[in-house]
Amino acid sequence: MIAILKKGTTENEIKELTSWFEEQGVRCHLSKGDYQTIIGLIGDTSHIDTELVESLDMIESVRRISEPFKKANRKFHPDNTVIKVGNVTIGDGSFNVMAGPCSIESETQIIEIAKAVKAAGATILRGGAFKPRTSPYAFQGLHEEGIKYLIEAKEETGLPVITEIMDARHLPLFEDVDILQVGARNMQNFELLKALGETDKPVLLKRGLSSTLTELLMSAEYIMASGNPNVILCERGIRTFETATRNTLDVSAVPVLRELSHLPIIVDPSHATGVARYVKPMAMCGTAAGADGLEIEVHTNPKAALSDGAQSLTPAEFEDLMQAVAKIHAAL
Ligand code: PEP
Ligand code: MN
Repeated sequence: MIAILKKGTTENEIKELTSWFEEQGVRCHLSKGDYQTIIGLIGDTSHIDTELVESLDMIESVRRISEPFKKANRKFHPDNTVIKVGNVTIGDGSFNVMAGPCSIESETQIIEIAKAVKAAGATILRGGAFKPRTSPYAFQGLHEEGIKYLIEAKEETGLPVITEIMDARHLPLFEDVDILQVGARNMQNFELLKALGETDKPVLLKRGLSSTLTELLMSAEYIMASGNPNVILCERGIRTFETATRNTLDVSAVPVLRELSHLPIIVDPSHATGVARYVKPMAMCGTAAGADGLEIEVHTNPKAALSDGAQSLTPAEFEDLMQAVAKIHAAL
């Protein structure tokens, strides 16, 4: 981090400022030019409040030259993180598709969909039991019963499973779940992130609706700083001024995150578009951009789905998507 001082800052003020920085555990490197004086802060500056520094009278501007996330940062961990779930590996160059319904609706529904997505090449089964719905009157999920059906589908098909956790108090229910999903709305629920950081289960962290990539990585940092290195990042579309799609898929998040971090990256074109016919083209884009996999909503009867039917693919549409993305991944 560098702090550029205003013209006319006195020697005494510089001394005061450098000792204040040093009290915060960093070393200071003073550089006095003809026009500008700069203090370079050396060491771990992640806890330094840049806005507070910027607000000081003698400060012209402050710039971070190293990112505030350390454990998620590729600079400190050049090799890709590889996460194992069952006999599936994520982040090693292979391509994994997590597919299934938005919500688990019944035992037969999840088992039927699990078999269909497995036959089409999905390697992980998804299904929501705790649903973060905008309306409190909308279907909230089957909760504990839903997780029970999901585990039955896992036993029936052998597919590892992912499902969303909204409250750390529910953790005991997730014992047999392979990947914990943190939804977009909870990306900055820091107490939840810290609690998941105390487990050793892989966590799929979805980007918040209006979050920057740095904020996503800082949320990953929360989980990792609490001791759990098994974080998977997920781009699921962000809110923009465009209304033709539910969200706007930020495809460039994939190469940017790849550069900044060693964590695996999953693209979710279902929530990004909200429209079933746009899911395949955006799945192809995410694959071409270099994602480690996709998360796709599939339903045997989208019209009757209890949530997100408009964006859910039928098993036949999903199979078609899988063939397209397999070709793209092979071409890479
Ligand atoms: C979901 O995966 O069903 C979901 C609610 O996703 P998001 O948190 O990205 O909206
Ligand atoms: Mn959904």
